[in-house]
Amino acid sequence: MPYKPIRKSDRLPYKQGLLFSLLGVLILVEVMTVFAVLASQRFATERALIEYTNELLRSVVDETRENAAGYLKRAEDSVMLATGIIESGLFPTTEPARLDRYFLQQLQVIPQIDAIFFGDDNGQFVFSKKLSGGERFVSKLILPSQAANERVRLIKRDRQLVEQENRLDPNDRFDPRQRPWYSLALSNGDSTVWTDPYIFYTSQQPGLTVARAVRDDAGRPLGVVGADVELSAISDFLKTQRVGSSGAAFVIYGNGDVLAHPSHGDLAETNTDGQLRLLKLADVDPIAAYAGERLQRKLDDLASLDEAHYDRFDLGKERYLAMFVPLVAHGSQPWLMGVYAPEDELARKIREGQRESIVLGVAVSLLVVTAAVMVGMVLLRPIYTLQQQAREDPLTGLLNRRSFDGMAERRLRIGARNRQDACALMIDIDGFKPINDSHGHAIGDEVLQAISKRLSAGISTLDLVGRYGGEEFAVLLPGTQLSQAERVAERLRRHIEEESIVTSVGPISVTVSIGIAEREPYDEPLDSLLHRADLGLLEAKRGGRNRVAIAS
Ligand code: GH3
Ligand code: MG
Ligand code: MG
Repeated sequence: MPYKPIRKSDRLPYKQGLLFSLLGVLILVEVMTVFAVLASQRFATERALIEYTNELLRSVVDETRENAAGYLKRAEDSVMLATGIIESGLFPTTEPARLDRYFLQQLQVIPQIDAIFFGDDNGQFVFSKKLSGGERFVSKLILPSQAANERVRLIKRDRQLVEQENRLDPNDRFDPRQRPWYSLALSNGDSTVWTDPYIFYTSQQPGLTVARAVRDDAGRPLGVVGADVELSAISDFLKTQRVGSSGAAFVIYGNGDVLAHPSHGDLAETNTDGQLRLLKLADVDPIAAYAGERLQRKLDDLASLDEAHYDRFDLGKERYLAMFVPLVAHGSQPWLMGVYAPEDELARKIREGQRESIVLGVAVSLLVVTAAVMVGMVLLRPIYTLQQQAREDPLTGLLNRRSFDGMAERRLRIGARNRQDACALMIDIDGFKPINDSHGHAIGDEVLQAISKRLSAGISTLDLVGRYGGEEFAVLLPGTQLSQAERVAERLRRHIEEESIVTSVGPISVTVSIGIAEREPYDEPLDSLLHRADLGLLEAKRGGRNRVAIAS
């Protein structure tokens, strides 16, 4: 009898395609939303980053300005106070030791000043100085009225001001009236004046002197009071200002000399001519020096900086943020303060927040996509199941006749295009009815399932096997010649014959008969091919069963 294959469309059912499209659109919209959110957030955090870093730099600057100004102010105040007291006549010039004692007490209570002194228009000089940060004191008293070799007296004292040493220094030719601060103060009327920063001889640290003229009631100058201020305390303060973990804040003079820097205790060096000089930024900190060069290129004259200047530059592998501001104006040039830090360090907190929200965004979108997929799957499952049911034989799980025909036809169509060989097998279980009769239908079903498994296992993934009737199976071997097909058939037959099938009532020996047909010509239709294989099967049965026969 001729077999009529049933055509079946390759395409998914309309409804299922629609669901897939909806799901796809949903996922696409979700992914796009996440990207849009992340992009806008990145932009926002970029702006927050700049604001945050600028604020951080500014706060370091403000604190340093306050600290430095307060520092210098104390020195200025103590000079004002001493001036007032001397002018009131409390310390007559005939008793320099009393003024020295007062100066030493000032040094004890005011940490900001390192030395305080008074020189008068006769050349008398009372100079009191801290040593080792207040551990000891030294005083120099110059009395011009004494004989030349008794003019200068040095007194050393311990921290409680108990005298340790008292001697004359006949070689000292010091004259206060010849010092720069003396003439500076006299030429500045009634105000305190600051010298330019210079290197103190004893401490080798940069510092400056604040001075003020002392006048009599008529306004005539009697002398000058001065105080020395070391700038190392500002360096120490800068050490406490954390700017990222490898940034720094520093103070320079308008001419580029370094006044304070956290990394360097020693900011002075001796010139070739033996004179002490302040270091330049390049001697101390290459990054600060680079930032300073960039500012200099912009301004020509560093001293002309009159407002905060922000900068961002790459140096080595790092990107830096920098800021310069005018700090205070003492001496002939303004003081500038600079701050720099690697952007990454400043930005770490913000970047971490950004990373967290990216992770959150991705997690949320994954969750939504997963949920969408799951909802889609729930909606699609009945369709899948129906589709599966329509395709499979429920007892054996093999293709049913309808879907075997559909798939086999497609394979043959492709094969015909490529002029490929193809063979079909028709397989029937021998004496199956007696198995049903003696053991029952259920055991017959077990046998059918076992045989189906063996058939599936015995062919390649390119081949097709379907349950074609009650205990009949069809196999399509695309791209296979007759001789190969014979070997496949023989192998299937033997595999079933040689190993009895284990059922719930014990092992049952089963055999099959197989008919083979080779597709001829290349475009022979499936029904004709299967019909000829069926003829082969008939021959095998007639020939005594448990054998393979080719349709003649
Ligand atoms: P032959 O060697 O000539 O093929 O003998 P046979 O007994 O196998 O041939 P026959 O066609 O007479 O018997 C086929 C039997 O298969 C008849 C039918 O009851 C049984 N059958 C068909 N479908 C099923 C099924 O799904 N389960 C079971 N248990 N038996 C089935
Ligand atoms: Mg049979
Ligand atoms: Mg049969």
